[in-house]
Amino acid sequence: MKKIAILGSTGSIGTQTLDVVREQGDIKVTAMAAGRNITLFEKQIREFLPKQVAVWEEETARELRDRIRDLDVKVSSGMEGLIEVATDPDAKILVTAIVGMLGIRPTIAAIEQRKNIALANKETLVTAGHIIMKLAKEKGAAILPVDSEHSAIFQSLNGEHGNRIAKILLTASGGPFRGKKTEELKNIQVEDALKHPNWEMGRKITIDSSTLVNKGLEVMEAKWLFDVEPEQIQVVVQPQSVIHSMVEYEDGAVIAQLGTPDMRLPIQYALYYPMRRPLSGDRLDFWKLNQLTFERPDTETFRGLALAYQALRQGGNIPTAFNAANERAVALFLDRKIAYLEIPEIIEYSMEEAKYLPSPSVEEILQTEAAVYEKIAGRWG
Ligand code: NDP
Repeated sequence: MKKIAILGSTGSIGTQTLDVVREQGDIKVTAMAAGRNITLFEKQIREFLPKQVAVWEEETARELRDRIRDLDVKVSSGMEGLIEVATDPDAKILVTAIVGMLGIRPTIAAIEQRKNIALANKETLVTAGHIIMKLAKEKGAAILPVDSEHSAIFQSLNGEHGNRIAKILLTASGGPFRGKKTEELKNIQVEDALKHPNWEMGRKITIDSSTLVNKGLEVMEAKWLFDVEPEQIQVVVQPQSVIHSMVEYEDGAVIAQLGTPDMRLPIQYALYYPMRRPLSGDRLDFWKLNQLTFERPDTETFRGLALAYQALRQGGNIPTAFNAANERAVALFLDRKIAYLEIPEIIEYSMEEAKYLPSPSVEEILQTEAAVYEKIAGRWG
């Protein structure tokens, strides 16, 4: 029996992780954490019977304790609760499926306990990659990518015995506004940005996909996961979302992973690595597919991607400023407090305003985040 803990079990990645658990039948979920959706969380607890669970607010925890008082499950709250779930002594793998920098401390705590990380929460690597990858190496903990692009790269690196990567070709769907110019993005509403052409995802990442900020975060994530320079990461728009990413080697050979857009595959691959298992669902039908097309990303219209490369080259705490600004800007956009095009504006402003720190500690990363939030509040409310 494989034993896992999940942070963010009620979200898009979390529920699909539980779909894999259901389908495979030989994984035990020992601990889970969620945010506010306690109706779904309660159902999940009753189905999977973890030993301990956590929610963010203590008030929600009290309500949950009341709802599941017939079960022998420990309920905790806050960062302490997330860390308890992340370090559950029985779990061998932690699935990090919460959103945002909140994931940094619990991920570090799990690595300290030598747990392997099935990492979906890309914001942790973007902001604290220098700490997390070093610690994982020291502790012998594997960081197994769940993001479909990084899983594709990870799969394309298999069996290569350390052969040198010339380039990583990170594919992008281009999002719902592919082909549009800045002028046409002025009046984009929340509903428009929440429609992704190929993938069903959580709200924040869906907005990030539409601005290409998600691709920017993935470029930074790839740097840390695969130890490559920014110049070696090339974004290729592949609107059908069939090629999930590729690796070009020194001899010019390009190895890719293809498949239907289904997050359960990379999740399952991370949980069973290096083994493959049967998985239900659609298969690629090349006759129906007919063609695969490729385009350059438009970084003038979608400035978020260009800013991400800039943040990566600057390094230190600038990726944190980029990420924190984006988290806040997306939240403001979802609350209809700012216009769509203000998202990259807020990111650029925050990168310029951040006090540069070359190798920030976790505390300094969180201080940078707080400083970014404060500046944004001063200007955008
Ligand atoms: P969702 O918004 O769907 O889910 C987020 C999860 O985190 C929910 O379970 C939510 O709980 C929980 N959560 C939020 N705040 C807190 C908190 N304060 N304490 C505890 N739990 C909390 O996000 P996604 O699943 O889409 O994304 C998760 C991560 O995976 C992100 O980093 C994203 O970038 C990455 N990712 C997602 C992909 C996808 O296809 N969705 C693909 C690749 C990467 P609740 O809902 O109960 O409030």
